[in-house]
Amino acid sequence: MTALYGCECCGLVSAAPAGDAQVQLRCPRCAHPLHDEKPHSLQKTWAYLAASVLLYIPANALPVMTTSNLFRDTSHTIASGIAELWASDSWGLAIIVFVASIAVPLLKIGTLALLAWSVQYAPGWRRFERARLYRIVEGVGHWSMLDVYVVVLLAGIVQFGRLANVHPEPGLLAFAAVVVLTMLAARSFDPRLIWREPDEPTP
Ligand SMILES: [Zn+2]
Repeated sequence: MTALYGCECCGLVSAAPAGDAQVQLRCPRCAHPLHDEKPHSLQKTWAYLAASVLLYIPANALPVMTTSNLFRDTSHTIASGIAELWASDSWGLAIIVFVASIAVPLLKIGTLALLAWSVQYAPGWRRFERARLYRIVEGVGHWSMLDVYVVVLLAGIVQFGRLANVHPEPGLLAFAAVVVLTMLAARSFDPRLIWREPDEPTP
């Protein structure tokens, strides 16, 4: 049976030429590399996830910004920032920051870990639901940078609100890295792995 490949870049479906299987196949129209599956998909997904979990700790433990006014400097972690917003009756903003910077990254890391784990250890389990989960994670990806925007927005509010200054702190860098790493993890995961039969050879 001839294997057919769909080009991820231009959409052209082409048949693999007979011959050496080791040669890197390329799209005959646009020369984009063709794969059965994304190469080293699971390894990359796990690596990016491990890195994002590691950086999630400093992202939450270190201050993300310092506000200073005439009298004193105050450092804020994500959690203390949310607590202060809540205490100052800015409930809506507190909820947005909580969802964008704590709930979404954690859920994203957990979901991707579940998807990668289930490909290896529970291949036949609820495939349809897992494919849907993947689409949700991918959809949320478009909004990932929202987290960083929220901090920038907060800085803006404090900056213009009073006679005060805001300085970004190392926690913000770790936080941005977590966002980027979870995006890379989602990109590395190949949803076609969900549909692979356990006895199918790994290409
Ligand atoms: Zn192409």
